[in-house]
Order: sequence, then C-alpha cells, then structure tokens
Amino acid sequence: MSNIDEFIAYLEARKLKPKTNYHLEALKEIQSFVGRKPRILLHVCCVICACWPIEFLKEYFDVSLIYNNSNIYPSEEYTKRLNELKRYLKERYNDSIPLIEAPYDNETYTKDLEIYKDDPEGFRRCFLCYEKRLEEAYAYAEENGFDYFTTVMTFSRQKDSQKINEIGKALMQKYPNTKYFFSDFKKDNGQLKSNEIAEEYCLYKQNYCGCIYSLPNEDLNK
Ligand code: SF4
Repeated sequence: MSNIDEFIAYLEARKLKPKTNYHLEALKEIQSFVGRKPRILLHVCCVICACWPIEFLKEYFDVSLIYNNSNIYPSEEYTKRLNELKRYLKERYNDSIPLIEAPYDNETYTKDLEIYKDDPEGFRRCFLCYEKRLEEAYAYAEENGFDYFTTVMTFSRQKDSQKINEIGKALMQKYPNTKYFFSDFKKDNGQLKSNEIAEEYCLYKQNYCGCIYSLPNEDLNK
C-alpha cells in the first residue's frame, strides 16, 4: 500500500470515529476554577495560531508561553516566527506574559521525521511532530510546577485537533502533576477573532507549516 493509499484509508476510518467537542471540555474545566487562576504553560508554534488562544486563556489562567519548535526549517524562518511573536507580546501585552525559548535543533528533528518524509501533510509525520513538541513542552511544565499544559496547535484547520488532544491525554499519564487542558481553539469563531487581531497588528502569516518536508518546492530550491 502506498503512503497516499494509507492516508486515504486513515481519513476514511477517521470519518467514522465519534468526535469529542474539546471546546466544550475546555469550558467545563474552566467552570471548576471558581475564584482562582491556575498557572498554565501554553505551547506556541507561531503568532497567527497563538493570538486568539492567548486572549482566550488570559481570562481564566495565569499564562506563560513556551516556543519549542525545532521542526521549523530553515533557522531564519524559526527566528522570524519567534521575533514576530515577541513583537506581538510587547505591543499587545507590554511584555507581561513570560515566554520560554527552548533550544533549537532542527538537524536532529529533521532526521527523526525523515522516516515519514513522503507522507502527505496531516498524517504520520505530523503525528510524530505533534508528539515530540508536546512531550518536550509538557516535561518542562511538570518540572516547573505548572497546574496545566496545552498547545495552540488545535487552532489550525490543517491539524487534527482530535489527535492532538489524544496525545495530550496520553502525556497526562506520564506527567500526572500537570493537567492537560483540552482545547479546540478554532471553535466559537476562533478563526474570525484571530483574523481581527492579525489585521490590527499586521501579523506575519507564513505560507507553510514548518518542517523541510512541508516547504514549497520553489522555496526549497532557492
Ligand atoms: S507539516 Fe507541520 S506538523 Fe507536519 S511534520 Fe511538518 S512541521 Fe510538523
């Protein structure tokens, strides 16, 4: 079976699987806070995906961010996305939200993903990529005493938010002192709210997901 055939079979099976509304799960969890603002570590991959989740979470949490995205190739793009995030945090929040920068090691990361380099976007390479970044950030959250951990990646329409939340749930077994905060940030007009913020702050919007395997061919040959 080719990679494409396997991907199609996966998509067919996914259609039949019951889906959880993770936005409702998030709202239920928030209701349990009554009078307290727990500390949450939020994994951020880029400012476009992050601007609405930050705005939403700040209402209910004491938010810190972690930028751990060794998937991004080349390093200039990694730095561009990071700097754009920093500009936004300064302009919108006057640098009041802490940002942790994890070490960048794209060479190792690219080798790890190579096994699935020919998979279409949204399949096994991406699942591995979600898992690696989530695990790294989750370990940091637990080591540093955060009450909750989550990721902005459920905002993206190109990413499988059911899968991302399943990975988060599994990691919660491994890091039991930090709870996973389920989410689906695109629900409740998340996209629209993000667009408004992006327009107001003229935020940079990249044209590919991040890894070398997702880079458009014309950019690869530059
Ligand atoms: S396409 Fe995006 S999510 Fe998939 S492996 Fe590449 S960087 Fe990771």
